[in-house]
Amino acid sequence: MQHRRFGSAGRDISVVGQGTWYIDRAHRASAIAALRRGIDLGMTHIDTAEYYGEAENIVGEAIAGRRDEVFLVSKVMPQNASRAGTIAACEKSLKRLRTDHLDCYLLHWRGAYPLAETFAAFATLKASGKIFSCGVSNFDVADLEEAEAVAGKGEIACNQVLYHLQERAIEHSVLPWCAAHSVAIVGYSPFGHDDFPQAASKGGRVLQEIAGTHGATARQVALAFLVRAAPLFTIPKASAPEHAAENAGAGDLRLSETEIARIDTAFPVGRPRALPML
Ligand code: NAP
Repeated sequence: MQHRRFGSAGRDISVVGQGTWYIDRAHRASAIAALRRGIDLGMTHIDTAEYYGEAENIVGEAIAGRRDEVFLVSKVMPQNASRAGTIAACEKSLKRLRTDHLDCYLLHWRGAYPLAETFAAFATLKASGKIFSCGVSNFDVADLEEAEAVAGKGEIACNQVLYHLQERAIEHSVLPWCAAHSVAIVGYSPFGHDDFPQAASKGGRVLQEIAGTHGATARQVALAFLVRAAPLFTIPKASAPEHAAENAGAGDLRLSETEIARIDTAFPVGRPRALPML
């Protein structure tokens, strides 16, 4: 599993991690087994959120006894992101996750509370050791500029954004801004939530061909493309252990420049547009 620096002051973490949205819809034992299999295979970056409900409890169960192996991320919902609300939300997440700290804590998306309130809470949580770093999610460049002005340079570890082969809007300005400011990009819904290109489609055939030359799968090729350079990370969600194992395999797959160019052509970036989100 390839590792890469997470933010300007962060540590090196796995480029392929594990998402958990709707993981509670699967059979609980399967969800826990999938997360554990993923950790065994190096997908130690685990993403969750208070918004995902029971998922935090499932993650807590999956990482019991192995907290130190994991880079654990959770998120506060915007409606809770006042100064006091953020602290209270974090404490509830810690309880569900059965841990005393998060490696990174994010604002899930922008809401009505001023960023100054949320970041003041993040600073308090950091000072008390309840979070080790903080970041944002679904932030476009104007929001990132404002957040950096409020939080200070180097304080925003990551921006978690929608990024998959058929949705590459971040490449116009969000990705370059984050690369220039040493902010990690954590791409979410790498399989389009549940809309992976069909094998028989034009793009699907390109993925299959490249996969064939590596003894890999089309999904592994897609994930490898989505983490092809710093500061990119990806967090596929799998509630089936065999899916987790397949996804972890992408962490060792390196694509050539020619292969990257082929995928780039098959799944074009498209016109600049407002930051999409799920
Ligand atoms: P996703 O990872 O693009 O797709 C998940 C779907 O792909 C599930 O149905 C899963 O099936 C399936 N899958 C996974 N690996 C597979 C494999 N190897 N072969 C076949 N199918 C496979 O969708 P997502 O859950 O929307 O995104 C990933 C994570 O990003 C979320 O879980 C969440 O942590 C994060 N996220 C963040 C935001 C935000 O606003 N910050 C928004 C959306 C998502 P099984 O479950 O059956 O294995």
